[in-house]
Amino acid sequence: MGEMSKAGAVLTIDLGALARNYQILKNQLGSGDLAAVVKANAYGLGVKEAAQALKKAGCESFFVATLEEGIELRGILPDASIHIFHGVLPGTADDLVAYQLIPILNSIDQIEEWQGQAEHLAGLHIDTGMSRLGLTPAECESAGDRLKGFNINLVMSHLACADEPANPKNQEQLALFNKLRSFISADQASLAASSGVYLGPDFHFDLSRAGVSLYGVNPMPGRSNPMAQVVRLQAKILQVRSVDTPQTVGYGATHQAAKPAKIATLSIGYADGYLRSLSNSATAYIGDDEVPVVGRVSMDLTTIDVTDIPDTNLATGTLVDLIGPNNPVDQVASQAGTIGYEILTRLGQRFERHYISDEA
Ligand SMILES: *Cc1c(COP(=O)(O)O)cnc(C)c1O
Repeated sequence: MGEMSKAGAVLTIDLGALARNYQILKNQLGSGDLAAVVKANAYGLGVKEAAQALKKAGCESFFVATLEEGIELRGILPDASIHIFHGVLPGTADDLVAYQLIPILNSIDQIEEWQGQAEHLAGLHIDTGMSRLGLTPAECESAGDRLKGFNINLVMSHLACADEPANPKNQEQLALFNKLRSFISADQASLAASSGVYLGPDFHFDLSRAGVSLYGVNPMPGRSNPMAQVVRLQAKILQVRSVDTPQTVGYGATHQAAKPAKIATLSIGYADGYLRSLSNSATAYIGDDEVPVVGRVSMDLTTIDVTDIPDTNLATGTLVDLIGPNNPVDQVASQAGTIGYEILTRLGQRFERHYISDEA
């Protein structure tokens, strides 16, 4: 343990796997280009390290959600093309220009807000079926006039059901996108996020915008994951104790020893983003040995049943895999009743974070 022993848990982020995932996705695209979505601190993994690794892997174009994220990313990547999904909010046009950020204009109001900066690059979002952001179909048909003199580099839309290839909504949105984008004069078109990349060439257009798959989450749920795992989360054993019926484990006494058992307590909890919904449902690994999480996950502690593990493998400080080669993010997400996106973006701040790369 040595140097690593101050924090209760260790988060290892494999930047080599991140770079390989960029390439895997790019290889799916034929002539289309691939932008990296690094919003929310690169889905919790660290925007500085992730963005630099992606740039090195050949990525030139990045997307974040907010102006603040864009300004931070501009400090990391002075020359990259940076798009802001949330577009231009009242009073922010000057900052967007000063940092050379490209707002995705999401409404008629945003188009008007950008009017004074119209010679600078902007994207345009058209809503083909999410009802969140973007011009409505009716607004698109008359947008051509309003956008005279604008420098629109990208027209984009977003798919609602791309992770369900057979969902007819994909083809409906594709058809609507093709119709509506004809009203807009733009250099490039973009429709696919991670899952859309795997819907085939009709969905690729000029630029795809991948986020979660870069970070190892399966873009094709239910099929085998083409992505390399980027994240490993390991927590330390603090203590091991023997329990026997009728003893119970943790808050709410939700787990009862049915027979003599050994319980190990780990230095991680829901304050670290190890979700409380993993109580009594997750699997951890000590080496390749699977052990169940038993009892409730509490704020700083999690308990596992290690009855079948020899004591020699249970020394205090031993690292137990909570996300790792045997229990990837998607599996943990399904055990928590959520999606990989949420597992990643909730990863906490108390970890010892290690970034590894292929060169190291
Ligand atoms: C977050 C986001 C993406 C990236 O989606 P992933 O499923 O993580 O690849 C792409 N486009 C838009 C509009 C987004 O908000």
